[in-house]
Formats: sequence, structure tokens, C-alpha cells
Amino acid sequence: MDSLKNRTLLKVIVLGDSGVGKTSLMNQYVYKKFNRQYKATIGADFVTKELHIEEKPVTLQIWDTAGQERFHSLGSAFYRGADCCVLVYDVNNLKSFETLNTWHTEFLKQANPMEPETFPFVLIGNKTDVDGGNSRVVANKRAIEWCGSKGNIPYHETSAKEDINVDEAFLGVAHKALTNEHKQDNIYFRDMSISVRDILEDQPRGCAC
Ligand code: GDP
Ligand code: MG
Repeated sequence: MDSLKNRTLLKVIVLGDSGVGKTSLMNQYVYKKFNRQYKATIGADFVTKELHIEEKPVTLQIWDTAGQERFHSLGSAFYRGADCCVLVYDVNNLKSFETLNTWHTEFLKQANPMEPETFPFVLIGNKTDVDGGNSRVVANKRAIEWCGSKGNIPYHETSAKEDINVDEAFLGVAHKALTNEHKQDNIYFRDMSISVRDILEDQPRGCAC
């Protein structure tokens, strides 16, 4: 069994306009289920998925909104400590593509990462199945250009409904998140070791019994 010590926890947040399929993607990835209707609010703040990357055990903690994205009012706990931000749009909905700039900016403002230029984002264009692709309004090329303009964000196209490319997209997310986690590790453990030493030094010496 993998010990907890060796397991890497990665926080991933999923952003994008309401209705693009964020909750559906997560459900398809984690539970292998697709429902037509989801309640606006889900019970938990996040779902988890265990996986291995290059033989390293990783827990992806994927945070979904509870519908507050309609009002662009996600609390600071949602953004705090994110290792990767997944932006989702619907390839059949131009507005959801145009709003990506706002989500990108909003994430950087709220999460305030140490290195905003290199923070890992992943873009997902969802609902490729609709009308056999005939309702599509955002071309693959246009999405790739947008990714290029934001520092080469990796791009995946998916159908949460038909379970097309969903696993591959989240695997890409996990890889991206891992690169950010490595950078933060040093700082995290340095702080931890100080606090553990402080606690130990506060303990009374010898046996009190
Ligand atoms: P969210 O608001 O971004 O979380 O979007 P939801 O996951 O709630 O999905 C909104 C609607 O789009 C629901 O009716 C879903 O069933 C539907 N939907 C989500 N993903 C897909 C997809 O890949 N293909 C199709 N055809 N419908 C989808
Ligand atoms: Mg949702």
C-alpha cells in the first residue's frame, strides 16, 4: 500500500461559464457517470481521484463550483493553494470561449500565485459530440491560438457525455499540477520543519509519569 507520506496531493480547480460541463466532466472522470441533470449544488466541495504518474502515487483533489460561477463570486478558499487551474468552455458556445479571458484573469487575481506567468493552466473544449460536431462555433485552431497567447496552455477537446478524451485530459491536468507542486514543495517543507522543531522544543524533558 502507498503510505500517506509518499502520496502527493494536488489541488485542481475547474473554472468556466455555467453550463459548459464542468460538473459533468468531473463526474465522468471520477465516477464514470453522465447525467443530464445535475443539482446546482453538489454535496462536497471537491472530489478525489487516486492515480499514479511515473509510478508516483498522486491524489487529485478536484474542486467544483456550486453554481456561484454565475455571479463570479467564488470564495477565497476555492482558489487557495491551487496547483492547477482547468478552464472549460463549450465548443458550441462562443460566449463561453470569449469569457475565458475573464476566468484566466480572475484566477490570477484571486489565487495570486507566486509565478503568474508560469502557473499551470489547462484548457478543455467540451461537448464535441453535440450534433455530430455541426453546431461547433469555435475552431480547434482558434482555441490553440488562444492557448499560445497565454504562454502555451495545453489544450484538450472532450465529450463528457460520450466519455471522449476525458481521462486523457485529466491525466494532462495531473502532469501539469505536478510541475507546480514540485516548486512549492521546498517552501512548504521548510516551514513545516521549523514548526515541528518548535513543537518538540516546547515539550517538557523526561517522563512526567
Ligand atoms: P456546469 O454548469 O459547467 O457544471 O455544467 P454541467 O456539467 O451541469 O452541464 C450542463 C449541461 O450540459 C447538462 O445538461 C449536461 O448534461 C450537459 N453536458 C455536459 N457535458 C456535455 C457533453 O459533453 N455533451 C453534451 N451533449 N452535453 C453535455
Ligand atoms: Mg456545475
